Amino acid sequence: MVDKYDEFSEKSGITGLERPEFPVDVGEMYEGERIRKPDMYLEFGGMNVNKKWELVLTRPKDQLEDGKITIIGPDLSEMTPGGSYPIGILVEVAGDKVEKDLEGVLERKVHYFTNYIDGVMHLNQRYDIWIRISKRAYQKGLNSLVWIGKILAWLYKSSFPVIEKIQITIYTEKAKVEELFPTAMDTWSKRDDRARTLKDEEVNEFYTCAMCQSFAPSHTCVITPNRIGLCGSVSWFDARAAYNIDPNGPNFPIPKGECLDPIKGIYEGINKVVQEKSLGTIKSISLYSMFDNPHTSCGCFEGIAFYIPEVDGIGIVHRDFKGQTVNGLTFSSMAGHTSGGTQNPGFNGIAIEYLRSSKFLQADGGWERVVWVPSEIKERVKDSIPKHIFDKVATEVECKTIGELKEFLKSREHPVVSRWKVEEVKEVPKEEVKEEAPEVVLPTQLPTGIEIPTQGGIRIILKNVKITAEKVIIKREKS
Ligand code: SF4
Ligand code: ZN
Repeated sequence: MVDKYDEFSEKSGITGLERPEFPVDVGEMYEGERIRKPDMYLEFGGMNVNKKWELVLTRPKDQLEDGKITIIGPDLSEMTPGGSYPIGILVEVAGDKVEKDLEGVLERKVHYFTNYIDGVMHLNQRYDIWIRISKRAYQKGLNSLVWIGKILAWLYKSSFPVIEKIQITIYTEKAKVEELFPTAMDTWSKRDDRARTLKDEEVNEFYTCAMCQSFAPSHTCVITPNRIGLCGSVSWFDARAAYNIDPNGPNFPIPKGECLDPIKGIYEGINKVVQEKSLGTIKSISLYSMFDNPHTSCGCFEGIAFYIPEVDGIGIVHRDFKGQTVNGLTFSSMAGHTSGGTQNPGFNGIAIEYLRSSKFLQADGGWERVVWVPSEIKERVKDSIPKHIFDKVATEVECKTIGELKEFLKSREHPVVSRWKVEEVKEVPKEEVKEEAPEVVLPTQLPTGIEIPTQGGIRIILKNVKITAEKVIIKREKS
């Protein structure tokens, strides 16, 4: 006879501990469940809530009471249905083999484990979380956050036998969530700082992260010291620690092999692994370019680097940026073009921490090519922006349109302006026939994935873009 636990283990792939009784089902099959507003009982975090966070910390064993779940603030049954509330989730773990390096990977698991709960949706990570509880789950008895704490504790201990003790505290009291927010930011900053000391050349292997393959099957994050996973939660140290405790898990080493291009960051070993993992869909990846075989993007990137053809520069936008960016598109409309585990030259999902990397898009010009960044992000990474470029990078405060951006870049003598001159000289040789043309505006709803062949090995794919041309140059083909 298959008892309930065995049946569950078979379905979910989770083994190790007897499953307690929960009011709703729990398992990997509920991952990817979306809860739309009409079906939602209430939500935590998201765009309507300013401060929200989730944090995993390692502790000495004697400081934790195993299985203790505490709610600080109002519980689900005391909240008004339909509302958006602040939340802070603190998971404390202890065990002889639980190293501090594991915090990042364990923290990323809050996302996956919460999504295993039938009727609960969890998006994003760290300071950016968004959780929805469905009306159906509430009616079934998921009427207290204690259940979520209990389920998480059980999933952690079942999946990571090295965790000997776990304690979970869920904060919903606004003042408390806000009070602890700087501590969480400080913890992440220290964690990221450590990874900053190491360079890609100094290690023998990189790591994969395949945690997002359930959402984007052809996507594998390649995690190197200079390029953190694109959700911003898994650094090279985190991935290495995760592999050490779970060699069959989603993080495993990639022998670097020969470096085929140190500027673009093309490695033989990476290409071999991404080809295998994507079943041949992805042939090659450039770690440090958003144009030439860029890294794939799943869906949980913290930000997007996007090409702005009108100024031949790069813009950055983060998930929390409200409204339109300088190219007239919002984060979510660009995320639609960027995600899905495909390579999208000109749109690249990135972690905000990657903006601090010394190899940040170095093949494309790095910070010398960045023309527009939301003011919040500019402030957050200001120490990593080269001093000579800092005042030349616009934000939404100075520029809201491409026209304003062009003027700004010219007035600040941004390095991309010199690229415009080079292009002009290159494009008007004597024998060319020139024709002035009226403004050409292509329909905004172009079929997705129009590919423009260009010289020099760059492939440009345009998706749902509007193209405005000031003039058209027709070149005579020399026979
Ligand atoms: Fe792992 Fe990348 Fe997904 Fe982050 S975005 S969980 S690093 S695969
Ligand atoms: Zn992802």
